[in-house]
Amino acid sequence: MQYCLKETNRQKEETVREIIRVKNLYKLYRVGDSVVRALDGVDFSICEGEFCAIVGTSGSGKSTLLNMLAGLEKPTRGEVIVAGQHIEQMKENELVKFRRENVGFIFQSFHLMGTMNALENVALPLTFRGEPRKERMKKADRMLDLVSLEKHKKHLPNQLSGGQQQRVSVARALVNDPKIIFADEPTGALDSHTSEDVMRLMQKLVREQKRTLVMVTHDRSQAEYADRVLEIIDGKIVHITENRRKQEDEKS
Ligand code: ADP
Ligand code: MG
Repeated sequence: MQYCLKETNRQKEETVREIIRVKNLYKLYRVGDSVVRALDGVDFSICEGEFCAIVGTSGSGKSTLLNMLAGLEKPTRGEVIVAGQHIEQMKENELVKFRRENVGFIFQSFHLMGTMNALENVALPLTFRGEPRKERMKKADRMLDLVSLEKHKKHLPNQLSGGQQQRVSVARALVNDPKIIFADEPTGALDSHTSEDVMRLMQKLVREQKRTLVMVTHDRSQAEYADRVLEIIDGKIVHITENRRKQEDEKS
């Protein structure tokens, strides 16, 4: 297992475990006669407990990269090592198990089940793990408290605002206690004020619960909440910036 030294912790000389390692990653799509190089030789690593933002314009390869990291798509070439496992070599059934045990997802369009209330939506990932109903509901209930939706547990998605729906999906992403949360444009469908609330919430939860969050966004202002920002252009990481933990410092 490799270790990396985080800039923010350098004074304390604290070593942090590397949880994601990407080596020489390529994803090529064939469209008619031409080839799209969605990922064009990507190398980086992400530390455990880090909030990492991947920023780039539309079509730069953000979703493709996130899908590779989460094992939703296979790379054309290269390695993706997550929690010590080579996920690019896994078979589909192994990937399903891997995602269920290690990963939570947050999407731009929330992906909530319209016929299920907030509680049932949050409990859903636990159903796939075969947990008893009572246990599932207890955990989901606790998660909704955590995202300040105490009064909306029985609401259906269409009875909730956009920001509240995204809180439900944050709760759902956390309910199975994943090591890593992947978020694809999580505030893309929200107004700027609501976006700020959701970003603060994600940042707080990731820090308090020591999760790793990998978020892709086209919105540079959202990246300010991250510990580190990777900039992607035409399928290549061109720039990496380390952010100070501003919000935390301001509060303390
Ligand atoms: P982003 O999320 O940054 O907007 P994407 O990762 O979705 O970008 O796409 C990167 C590039 O790969 C784009 O040029 C897109 O058109 C292309 N692409 C993505 N998925 C496919 C696919 N399934 N088939 C063909 N081309 C694709
Ligand atoms: Mg995208």
